[in-house]
Amino acid sequence: MSNNLRIIVIDDNPAIHQDFIKILTANKEENKADTHIIAMEREIFGEPEKEEGLPEFEIETASQGKEGVQKIKKALEEGRPYSLAFVDIRMPPGWDGIETIKHIWELDQTVQVVICTAYSDYTWEETIEQLGQRDNLLILKKPFDNIAVRQLACALTKKWQLAKEAKQYTSELEEKVHERTEKLKYQATHDLLTDLPNRVLLLEEIKNAIERSKKNNKLFSVLFFDLDRFKLINDSLSHEAGDEVLCAVAKRLKSAIREDDMVARLGGDEFVIIMKDIRNEEDFIKLIDKLLVVFDKPFRIKNHDIKLTTSIGVAVYPKDGKNFELLLRNADTAMYRAKELGANQFQFYTDELNKRNLERLEKEAELRRALSNEEFFLYYQPQFDLKSETLVSVEALIRWQHPTKGVIYPMDFIPLAEESGLIVPIGEWVLRTACKQNKKWQDAGFIPIRVAVNVTTKQFRLYNLVDIVAKILNETGLEAKYLELELTENTIVNNIDIINTIHDLKKMGIQIVLDDFGTGYSSLNYLRELPVDRLKIDQSYVQNIDTNRGDDFIIQAIIAMAHSLNLEVLAEGVESEKQLEFLKKHKCSEVQGFYFSKPIPPELCEELLKDPHNLKLAEEIEGKIED
Ligand code: C2E
Ligand code: MG
Ligand code: MG
Repeated sequence: MSNNLRIIVIDDNPAIHQDFIKILTANKEENKADTHIIAMEREIFGEPEKEEGLPEFEIETASQGKEGVQKIKKALEEGRPYSLAFVDIRMPPGWDGIETIKHIWELDQTVQVVICTAYSDYTWEETIEQLGQRDNLLILKKPFDNIAVRQLACALTKKWQLAKEAKQYTSELEEKVHERTEKLKYQATHDLLTDLPNRVLLLEEIKNAIERSKKNNKLFSVLFFDLDRFKLINDSLSHEAGDEVLCAVAKRLKSAIREDDMVARLGGDEFVIIMKDIRNEEDFIKLIDKLLVVFDKPFRIKNHDIKLTTSIGVAVYPKDGKNFELLLRNADTAMYRAKELGANQFQFYTDELNKRNLERLEKEAELRRALSNEEFFLYYQPQFDLKSETLVSVEALIRWQHPTKGVIYPMDFIPLAEESGLIVPIGEWVLRTACKQNKKWQDAGFIPIRVAVNVTTKQFRLYNLVDIVAKILNETGLEAKYLELELTENTIVNNIDIINTIHDLKKMGIQIVLDDFGTGYSSLNYLRELPVDRLKIDQSYVQNIDTNRGDDFIIQAIIAMAHSLNLEVLAEGVESEKQLEFLKKHKCSEVQGFYFSKPIPPELCEELLKDPHNLKLAEEIEGKIED
């Protein structure tokens, strides 16, 4: 595509088109005709002085205003705009010159225009009135003077070109200035190492949060983080490693906060998080939990696994400060107190908040520690088939060997584990340990039995249980049919995701048991659709056998219903001969309870496995175990 200057001649007289073409390309034509003479001259007199001839114009013509405007439009779209238009004032039957020029400028303000007129339909004043006072409008009187046409063409196209260049240059300059300003602005408000907002942006954000909080009446808090013993990393590894740690921490913190919240780096190993729109303490604890998890996994830096802890000080607006200076200062003070108290902990600026939350956070920290210190262990409670009088399964039940408080039972820590999300790693540990144990028994040559593992709603919600179970079965080599999962019936109702997960688990060959059956809201309909293998009658009914006739009926009804749906029924919490007799009479298929055995450690299970038909043995063993 040529870069020639483009000129359009809009005139209803084709002869005029030719005139323009001739005038504006004249010297080129002459040159062409006399090429051989020029060549001879050059031979004799040498290269002539360069003569400023006409620039290379590309000339287009149109016989009507409308046609001309269309051509201008097309040229614009193609990115090859016209620089100059010669427009005849009278072009019947279509638009006259004035009308045409208006349209031209609607499309492109920069086109230079020369009105060509033999006599004036419009005076200059009228033209100005119509088109406005412009510096790209000139008048050319007919008949033309060739020189005047050439001068106009040269001057106006040059003017157009210069204006265009100037405009481009200015916009490039503006762009550069804009880019630089943005960059400077970013650099002034961000930390170079971690790319997090710095103090400047943080202060602005706190000010905004204060305004927002005043409007919506919600709290917000400022959390001051300081990494514990960070200096050690710098000194013992290198500053470079230290930098890597800071970047890694920044990245994890950033992924743990909500979109609206902010994490900033103040410098060194100090970070600040602003948590906005907090409705209540529950909200707050949940968010803090998420932040704590950030430091659970070690950081892999330069081939070292570095375990980091942090001390955190918290100030809550408006209680702990009404402006950003106070809030930051008080969060900082609280952080120092946390450090004094031995690091790796939280400290609220307000004592009252401290007391309430600290206990709970402490408990969570303990749970977390329990997992990494392997303080959990499993007991197994036998389950017998009544018809064959055989040990068929054991239920894995978790216990916590607390370093100072002794053994803690699941009811005292599973709810907290669920709330804090720790149930996920704990649950995975239970699954793995139980499957491994069962496989170990089978490998030792005992008769194969099932192992039952309790799973909670959170475990379904927080991760893909199917993947985890598949991974663990694969890892331990236990066949799926020897694993059963106990879900409480309330877990399942009305949650389509959970129901789908159950179907997937069932497809893998795992047995599904509805635990504590009778306490939830199961309807017959949904039981029919769920791929359940067994119902486990809740122990509260079993324990009321003989004392509450209503419960007797419920048990009978559950058994009858299970049979009609082709499900097995297990009664849990069997404690007496009477209860056992009742269950036998009503054809309950399996039993579990203190009458046979309490939950026992795996070594004692082996005694049972050696003699699986001896139900009395369980009773004997019971004497040797926990209460
Ligand atoms: P659950 O699944 O209904 O487990 C049965 C509970 O009843 C066990 O308490 C067991 O020791 C107790 N039990 C068994 N037979 C009798 C009896 O004859 N009489 C009486 N009074 N109690 C009996 P435990 O071990 O304290 O577990 C309590 C609950 O904690 C379990 O109820 C289960 O929901 C949960 N749990 C236990 N281990 C785990 C676990 O690994 N993961 C999860 N998510 N939950 C668990
Ligand atoms: Mg259970
Ligand atoms: Mg139960």
